[in-house]
Amino acid sequence: MNVEGKLGLLNYKKAPETHISIKDATENGPCVKQCQDKPCTTVCPAKVYEWEEHKKKILVAYENCIECGACRMLCPFDNIKCDWPRGGFGVQYRWG
Ligand code: SF4
Ligand code: SF4
Repeated sequence: MNVEGKLGLLNYKKAPETHISIKDATENGPCVKQCQDKPCTTVCPAKVYEWEEHKKKILVAYENCIECGACRMLCPFDNIKCDWPRGGFGVQYRWG
């Protein structure tokens, strides 16, 4: 089974508020001015991050997050604030 298939087996309870944000999402921020490769858009296994070219910003689909922690370690400009959803929300793993 591929990654997409496995992700489809997970249960999520969407929190009303995001637990992920781009620290500096302005037009002068690192996503626009410095980060050419935008690794968040390829590293995240749940495809939470998407670069929207015409708005010049990263879209964050926080409800798909599987809480692996990779994005905040790999953003080369430390521009992602990623906490965990509050208790009872987010991804629910059935076997630990
Ligand atoms: S990796 Fe970090 S700096 Fe680069 S586009 Fe993503 S959030 Fe922005
Ligand atoms: S914690 Fe993992 S799944 Fe969640 S946004 Fe970051 S890389 Fe994606």
